Amino acid sequence: VTDTGADLSARALHVLETVFGYPAFRGQQGEIVEHVASGGDALVLMPTGGGKSLCYQIPALLRDGVGVVISPLIALMQDQVDALEEVGVRAAFLNSTQTFEEAMRIERLVRTGEIDLVYVAPERLMTQRCLELFDASKISLFAIDEAHCVSQWGHDFRPEYIRLSILHERFPNVPRIALTATADQQTRAEIALRLQLGEARQFVSSFDRPNIRYSIVEKANGRKQLLDFIAGEHSGDSGIVYCLSRKKVEETADFLNENGIRAMAYHAGMEYAVRAKNQARFLREENIVMVATIAFGMGIDKPDVRFVCHLDLPKSIEGYYQETGRAGRDGGPASAWMAYGLQDVVLQRRMIDESEADETFKRVLSMKLDAMLGLCETLSCRRMRLLDYFGERSGPCGNCDTCLIPPVSFDGSVPVQKLLSTIYRVDQRFAGGHVIDVLRGATTERITQWHHDKLTVYGVGADRSEQEWRAILRQAIALGLVTVDHDAFSSLKLTDAARPVLKGEQTVQLRQYQKPVKAKRPSTSR
Ligand code: ADP
Ligand code: ZN
Repeated sequence: VTDTGADLSARALHVLETVFGYPAFRGQQGEIVEHVASGGDALVLMPTGGGKSLCYQIPALLRDGVGVVISPLIALMQDQVDALEEVGVRAAFLNSTQTFEEAMRIERLVRTGEIDLVYVAPERLMTQRCLELFDASKISLFAIDEAHCVSQWGHDFRPEYIRLSILHERFPNVPRIALTATADQQTRAEIALRLQLGEARQFVSSFDRPNIRYSIVEKANGRKQLLDFIAGEHSGDSGIVYCLSRKKVEETADFLNENGIRAMAYHAGMEYAVRAKNQARFLREENIVMVATIAFGMGIDKPDVRFVCHLDLPKSIEGYYQETGRAGRDGGPASAWMAYGLQDVVLQRRMIDESEADETFKRVLSMKLDAMLGLCETLSCRRMRLLDYFGERSGPCGNCDTCLIPPVSFDGSVPVQKLLSTIYRVDQRFAGGHVIDVLRGATTERITQWHHDKLTVYGVGADRSEQEWRAILRQAIALGLVTVDHDAFSSLKLTDAARPVLKGEQTVQLRQYQKPVKAKRPSTSR
């Protein structure tokens, strides 16, 4: 290729206009296209909806040969190919859903270069047959989509992705572009390392989604709060509600339907045909809610999703960001809403403790959960906190719950000391419910049986409601002062970090418990 820079840039723009019908590149697209089209490797971090596809589609059209797109999303390949054919790009896919004859036909087109782009699943690419096909063909580039699947610490890990490093060894002269919407430092480093993209130029877009309003409320009766939220702020809108378990998905969908909100369920335990039907309906219809486990959503492109709700705490900020990122892809105002409570913290910690993972992996999971808890408990702007996690500095956004209604914080050292002392006085052998009963001076059989009404701490917390104490306990766990021992009837235990607080050497700032209020419709101007 003898392109000068200016030439290439003009040709790229020409393809953008004449093939895709867009007048201008968005964000860093233009730069990325030029870099890859002229043979450079790239690592592209761009939020969902940012326009990653054009970053490899246009270079594939500008360069000689066939562009190979590696994607784990077999179910979406047909749609992607259809969309390309619609604008006149010659595209096809190779995956396990097609007949041998059909695959042979596509392979022939690849070998003769009568095609511009071919989508393949990673496990297919690794077959001897496929590698030999590409050896014998002219390949313009390799695009590795959803590149975070290479990360062993991530929630979408695919072992086949690790083996993609052989592309570099086998096809050293073919440019590679890896793309992902997951961008924390660790994942970024892992992609660069495992895909041998250390030398690749990195293009990092802003991860801010200014049209999404973030709010995280204290969970009282989650389902009822969800209903109030949807009815109050998003009546008639389409949205996604995420739950942790399949059972809860089904119960929540039923509950919404009983209360006049059109809802469907989606989880991996459902029959494939039913799942596919529900997904198709969700994409097609308006005024519809999908209640789902996180099995739902990767690659879903429904522009008018107006809200994404979480009834359970996600495991990490990456997960939260990806899931909430499915809201407002059309740029219009959208909400990310979550209800979060003591049980969420206890449950997620337990899932880590009880997982089969080794100690190192558990520590990573635990750090990711801590960051997520930090976002839930923060007293400052949620968006600032979120972007900070991805290494992006910003100021208060004015479009999240903590900016709009600043949470009231207070010096919680005294109540936390009371809580910690009570846990200590009952020999760290009782669960949260009992500890709170002792604090509030309740009369229960268990208190009498254990003579806990004789303790000096009995009733020292009578001035606060049970809900308030649960909020304080939740924060003490989130702050790492208290742990829940799942091997011993969920009894509360003090950590080393509790000591300076108990001794009065360290103060603790807490969020004031706020009674759930009925939500008002957000103003759409920003
Ligand atoms: P991602 O893969 O990053 O989630 P897509 O590549 O699916 O994003 O693009 C998201 C949407 O934005 C698509 O509907 C696409 O057609 C549109 N889009 C991408 N680039 C541009 C552009 N330069 N101008 C206008 N629309 C664009
Ligand atoms: Zn904010």
